Amino acid sequence: MAAKPTIGVLALQGAFVEHEDYLRRSGALPVEVRLPEQLDEIDGLILPGGESTTIGKLLRRFGFEEPLRKFEKPIWGTCAGMILLSKEILGGLPDQLALDRIDLRVTRNAFGRQVDSFTAQLELSNLEEPIPAVFIRAPLAQPLSDRVEILAEVDGQVAAARQQNVWVSSFHPELSGDLRLHKAFVASCRTGET
Ligand code: GLN
Repeated sequence: MAAKPTIGVLALQGAFVEHEDYLRRSGALPVEVRLPEQLDEIDGLILPGGESTTIGKLLRRFGFEEPLRKFEKPIWGTCAGMILLSKEILGGLPDQLALDRIDLRVTRNAFGRQVDSFTAQLELSNLEEPIPAVFIRAPLAQPLSDRVEILAEVDGQVAAARQQNVWVSSFHPELSGDLRLHKAFVASCRTGET
């Protein structure tokens, strides 16, 4: 078997430890990324859930903005990470960081006003069986172009999508108890394909 891919998990704030565990169990070598120089040493990157305003400020402070706009390897944003990778963000600060890596418009904290968090059995077009998807103050998301391949929807909103090698999910796959999405991401980092 090919060498284990080294996959970075942005470790400035949020749920990065759980992603590391899932990556390890999916056959990858996880690395906590705290400096832009580390982007040269990884085969792919996960931007975890957390608070997108806080993570965005820290990304700017540590000089990640331009390197992440140019990062060519596979990148996967989950929840707050999805918000950061989107083209347009509603419900954020006026200067909230939007890395514009996927043609989505997201609205923060707008999912389910009655319930902030919920779990749904989610059908994804790239998985045979549904995945138990945990949504925690998830963003609403709508595609802005047909370059976005929608993998799953909840209530007419994008729950998982892909644009070339940029993956996003509005839920927390690292809390699902299911390794299939991490395994698929690790495989794409290994081959360099989507
Ligand atoms: N509500 C958070 C935000 O807007 C995202 C929540 C999460 O990542 N679970 O950044």
